[in-house]
Amino acid sequence: MLQSNTAKNPLSYVDPQPDSPWQTYLSQVDRVVPYLGPLAHWADTLRRPKRALIVDVPIEMDDGSVRHFEGFRVQHNLSRGPGKGGVRFHPMVTLEEVMALSAWMTVKNAAVGLPFGGAKGGVRVEPRELSRKELERLTRRYTSEIGIVIGPQQDIPAPDVNTNPQIMAWMMDTYSMNIGGTATGVVTGKPIPLGGSLGRVKATGRGVFVTGREAARRIGLPLQGARVAIQGFGNVGSTAAELFAAVGARVVAVQDHTGAIYKEAGLAVGALQTHVAVHGGVAGFEAAQPIAVDSFWEVPCEILIPAALEGQLTEARARTTTARLVLEGANGPTLPGADDILNDRGVLVVPDVICNAGGVTVSYFEWVQDFSSFFWSEDEINARLETILGNAFAQILDTADRLKISLRTAAFVVACERVLQARAERGLYP
Ligand code: GLU
Repeated sequence: MLQSNTAKNPLSYVDPQPDSPWQTYLSQVDRVVPYLGPLAHWADTLRRPKRALIVDVPIEMDDGSVRHFEGFRVQHNLSRGPGKGGVRFHPMVTLEEVMALSAWMTVKNAAVGLPFGGAKGGVRVEPRELSRKELERLTRRYTSEIGIVIGPQQDIPAPDVNTNPQIMAWMMDTYSMNIGGTATGVVTGKPIPLGGSLGRVKATGRGVFVTGREAARRIGLPLQGARVAIQGFGNVGSTAAELFAAVGARVVAVQDHTGAIYKEAGLAVGALQTHVAVHGGVAGFEAAQPIAVDSFWEVPCEILIPAALEGQLTEARARTTTARLVLEGANGPTLPGADDILNDRGVLVVPDVICNAGGVTVSYFEWVQDFSSFFWSEDEINARLETILGNAFAQILDTADRLKISLRTAAFVVACERVLQARAERGLYP
């Protein structure tokens, strides 16, 4: 007899705090279960990761001392295919956070219909404090330590917060050295000469734009002249800013780890990208007015794009935002209580698991191209991205309309049905 465990926290090794990412994910699961029919029998599968690896990452610092870092790789679910999801380097990374991020990858990959399970990795480190050589040693040692669970058919890492194509190149090289070959398909988001895909760097921001454009059309919001506020100006936020500005929207406010800036007429996105490349953040950008970080959430805007970390859109911020549309460029930026408030206020939230799925979609293209050693043009990549993401989003909109539920719960319905169907058909081993 299968024992059903629906207690709030069935796992002994985490103690999820209210509003923590794993707790947020668990409440999202609770909301989808009533719509799963007989598949709800398998719902506890969603409430625990299949496998979680914790590794010690010791490295020699440039001054000869040795420092140890905590590293993680969590495979939340592998029912539909190999694990897939990024690796983040951040001082606040925890096992519990990586568990939530890996679970959101399970849902994201299934929502889009990519043949992957969900995984995520992270190292608890402030990469800005490391030299380039230290960063390389950290990346290589971490890759070696998680080498027992990753592989082109097992689990395929990719960039996330504070990781980039250079780090993917070191990961690919380290894994390849250890197996005595060249395994380009072990990570995605690589530099182009190493089997990377055209269009991958901008893919996540492009997906935010594509789903945002469709959502704006649905609520009758013209993009021309729409005011956009963006939290986070990394790979995702800056690309989204560029694409929205290109169709005549005004990026009026940006906030990142260095501060917040505002310009009613719209920021010059290209100049801001150059400023951030030189100074490491938006603070000090002269062609704008600095504002307090908290007032960022209150600036008058039609579109709000949280593209930084989890848990940023709190209940208080959900009550005061003037946005009509929230586009989740980040993973898990909206707390469940805030989700309800936004819903009640008629604000449309395009959830992370579809909104930022452009990155992993092009990662999938990269993985396919690496296997066939046949590479597509950038136009082909972008066109296929638009088709796949556009169709997946349309299906989620239909589901939301049919069941009269939020887009987030609808995305979870579509995704969890796929995951649990696969689970049920594979059956329990042994
Ligand atoms: N880190 C990205 C995400 O959260 C991309 C993952 C991937 O390409 O595997 O979706």
